[in-house]
Amino acid sequence: MTLAANVSGAAGVTHQVLNQAEPAHGWNAFSDDKLLVAIADRYAPWAKEKAARLGTYAGDEATQELARLANKHTPELRTHDRFGNRLDWVDLHPAWHELMALAFGHEVHSLAWTAGQPGAHVARGLLSYVWNQIEHGVGCPTGMTYAAFPGLAQPEFATWREKVLSTRYDKRPLPYRQKTGATIGYAMTEKQGGSDLRQTQTTARFLEDTKDGRVYLLAGHKWFFSVPQSDGFFTLAQTRAGVTCFFVPGFLPDGARNSLRIQRLKDKCGNRSNASSEVEYHDTLAWLVGEEGHGIREILSHAHLTRLDFAIGSAGLMRQALTLALNHAQTRRSFGLVLAEQPMMTNILADLAIDSEASTLMAFRVARATDAMQSDEEQRRIARVATPLAKFWNCKRAPAFVVEALECHGGNGFIEENPMARLYREAPLNAIWEGTSNMMCMDVLRAMRKDPRVTEAFMAEVGRSRGADRHLDRWLDRLGSDIARPRNDDGHGRRLCNAMAYALQAGELREHSAPEVFETFCRSRLQGDWGYVFGTLDSAPELKEIVARATVLRR
Ligand SMILES: Cc1cc2nc3c(=O)[nH]c(=O)nc-3n(C[C@H](O)[C@H](O)[C@H](O)COP(=O)(O)OP(=O)(O)OC[C@H]3O[C@@H](n4cnc5c(N)ncnc54)[C@H](O)[C@@H]3O)c2cc1C
Repeated sequence: MTLAANVSGAAGVTHQVLNQAEPAHGWNAFSDDKLLVAIADRYAPWAKEKAARLGTYAGDEATQELARLANKHTPELRTHDRFGNRLDWVDLHPAWHELMALAFGHEVHSLAWTAGQPGAHVARGLLSYVWNQIEHGVGCPTGMTYAAFPGLAQPEFATWREKVLSTRYDKRPLPYRQKTGATIGYAMTEKQGGSDLRQTQTTARFLEDTKDGRVYLLAGHKWFFSVPQSDGFFTLAQTRAGVTCFFVPGFLPDGARNSLRIQRLKDKCGNRSNASSEVEYHDTLAWLVGEEGHGIREILSHAHLTRLDFAIGSAGLMRQALTLALNHAQTRRSFGLVLAEQPMMTNILADLAIDSEASTLMAFRVARATDAMQSDEEQRRIARVATPLAKFWNCKRAPAFVVEALECHGGNGFIEENPMARLYREAPLNAIWEGTSNMMCMDVLRAMRKDPRVTEAFMAEVGRSRGADRHLDRWLDRLGSDIARPRNDDGHGRRLCNAMAYALQAGELREHSAPEVFETFCRSRLQGDWGYVFGTLDSAPELKEIVARATVLRR
């Protein structure tokens, strides 16, 4: 053997690749998920085929690669063309466009409005839940376009409505009438404060009445504006009557670009495939939506749907993290056993599975109330309070959940090649946009203060589970007196919302889950037989059953 052969490694291999986990391919995020199928069976059976078709993409290797590429090759801002003309456009990687075509092609943005079947928001929720296990950046335009549809009710927006419902995504920068489909964004947040929209500085000046609506010119800025390449977007500006809602088209009626200056793109911690920008309005054309001075109320009516979508989205994200953690732990061995069978790991996985089911069921409870609220006053009250509640709780649970799922992967979870790193950076976002956690809790308190029947509807809803578990009964007793206690301020907001969320989740688990999941939830979350981190359940044989129930990738 020569020295050269030894140095080149030809003398022999250094090691074999052994005991690495199997890649998480070949599962269906809908059909393989017992809980999701049960929800669909009961509330929107007609949507099962659609959900199953989309579900295959979550486990599809090529689609997973698209998600990786779209997040690695992030959007680039082009302010000008090479001749110095303003462009204000964003270049996106082809993988982004493929994912957009996939999501819009599978009706993730539109099914609730086109189905004409009972359970349309549940059905659309199934698609969103599945999509949130495919790629999260695209979940922003699908969610916003879904929420925007009812806001385009004015007769002059008829063609917009048609384009918004289209399943043919069109990436071209053209006036919306020339495109096969349109996407919609929202621009509310300004530098001085995103939560308190009453402080909006942007101003609107009335120009003229046209067949397309009442035209105003906007001057001002927005500090956060995601998907600035959208075909149109809702925004807020001050008129003499106060904060007012407007719809801004990307192009003017004569085909020229509207005057929207993209200042820069945000360099974000997560959600990196999706462009988020800072913009300025320089006499930007906008159409009045609703009445002057009613802008915040108008935008909040859209927010009901974006908040529902984030409650579902964070539950979907947790489900993806759980699937990946289970897959890793079930296909790697340590100390002579499959990791998932090591008792401490079983405890963690079961604990995560319980949280995942509870979050999923709470989100779909809101979707059901949203479906029913047009004709059922009681459901409207439940939707009113449970939407911010579920948005608060699910989005807040997601980061802690994802951290634990990441650690189940050991060092591999922390490496960018593994999707867990992306999920980790994504997880905190849903708690921030569309109203932060504190805003959600304030909204829950506001809803109950404003109309005591909202509190009654909520307590009646959770009270349906009385008698099923003694820990739950005690929890409901305490919640009843806490909710009724007069307060001087909202310092108790998170504490009360936590208690309300657990009550709602327990009721949903009793109704839809396995007895061992419901009982372990009540013992740990309600009785307090639990610690401050996942994996602190009391060891019991049923933990294995809970893990088996949550397993979607069977080998
Ligand atoms: C990636 C990303 C994309 C975004 N995209 C968009 C977009 O497309 N369109 C858009 O309009 N916005 C967008 N936003 C902005 C987002 O909606 C705001 O950041 C959010 O609403 C919070 O506003 P703020 O950042 O001004 O924080 P602030 O309002 O200053 O709040 C800061 C903190 O104070 C808390 N707080 C505020 N008031 C109170 C109070 N009274 N009591 C207790 N706590 C309080 C909040 O909960 C928060 O924790 C985006 C944000 C991010 C991160």
